[in-house]
Amino acid sequence: MQHLIPSRQTRPSGDVIFALNAEANKRRAAGESIVNATLGTLMRDDGTLALVETASKAVHAVSREDWAAYAPIPGTPDFLKAVIHDALQSVPALKAAAVAAATPGGTGGLRHGIMNYLEPGQALLTTSYFWGPYQTLVDEHDRRLETFSMFGVGGGLDVAALEAKVSDQLATQKRVLLFLNDPCQNPTGYSMSDSEWKQVVEVLLRHSQQGPVTLLVDMAYWLYGSAPDPRGFLQHLVPLLGKVGLLFAWSASKSFTHYGLRVGALIACVGDEGERAATDAALAYACRGTWSNCTRGGLSAVTRLLTDPALAAACDAERDQLKKSLSARVKVFNDLARAKGLVYPRYEGGFFVTVFSDDAFGLAKRMKEQGVFVVPQKGAVRVALCSVSVNDVERVVNALA
Ligand code: PLP
Repeated sequence: MQHLIPSRQTRPSGDVIFALNAEANKRRAAGESIVNATLGTLMRDDGTLALVETASKAVHAVSREDWAAYAPIPGTPDFLKAVIHDALQSVPALKAAAVAAATPGGTGGLRHGIMNYLEPGQALLTTSYFWGPYQTLVDEHDRRLETFSMFGVGGGLDVAALEAKVSDQLATQKRVLLFLNDPCQNPTGYSMSDSEWKQVVEVLLRHSQQGPVTLLVDMAYWLYGSAPDPRGFLQHLVPLLGKVGLLFAWSASKSFTHYGLRVGALIACVGDEGERAATDAALAYACRGTWSNCTRGGLSAVTRLLTDPALAAACDAERDQLKKSLSARVKVFNDLARAKGLVYPRYEGGFFVTVFSDDAFGLAKRMKEQGVFVVPQKGAVRVALCSVSVNDVERVVNALA
């Protein structure tokens, strides 16, 4: 007798990316020369995990009591205050309207977005290239996923395709939840321009009277973009306040290179006071109904990193060094890939780039035979330059070509 409920009886076993990573590691351990461009973890050029040392020290400085005790259900008040300040400090209007809940990584924030802003069976809207776990998250929570074609003919964000889909979803399901992962989108590496942000905001405002429209900005990589001010895009979002739901999935995973610490938050900016209180309550309830509360020790370490000026400055300086090493790989990639005629979106920085291919699965398989591991998806392969040493970028480009 099958005891699993029918919808859970045919779940794929294992995660595609983690499976490819395991295969790459196995072959490397057996002595083969392998380039593993699968996992979204920042590695140094010598192949070791790139760590923000200051963050590491802060984690180890957390008291035994802090590791052992429960955190409040929505997270410690200091953490929530620090995260809201970190994300929104340059835009007082958004900051004043913000509430937040601690989540295990940004993933938890995405989960809370899906569960609180879509009814069962309704579809999340996102770009046609997207981080695979968006699909897993909606599957797991009995929602669906729909996409709009991400790039237009000029190679920029296809805002017209977004608008058509928003209009379509409002007509069919009477509400919209849009996930945009920016900057340094996973998997394409694309970062939206100021003009694209403005156009997206105009589209959302144009349709906001027809039903609840909510934008969730997945800011997992926001400190790795090439814009001089990572908060620069926020000013364009201010007109949404009170008209379009505005959420931010904040994560400490990449910003502090502590992926396994599982510290994140969902921030919601809500213009109306009553709605803000209801949102705060709904998010806390959702925490209790899923993971109860996050690890107090992780929240405590990250709060210190955000609020102690000396530690915050040290983290920024270390992260700048990591970004420099990543930028060197991006430059080599761009120089070589352009020369080889590879087709990929504008790529100025970040953990990943995606190279278009009509036969992505075949290409990834052939590359694997040459010892170069990338992640295929429909129409493209994702290259995690974050985990490729600068000297191996040429081998990756050659294998792609
Ligand atoms: N969003 C995107 C696009 C990601 O690539 C990731 C991690 O790889 C996340 C969110 C969430 O990561 P975490 O849950 O570790 O914060």
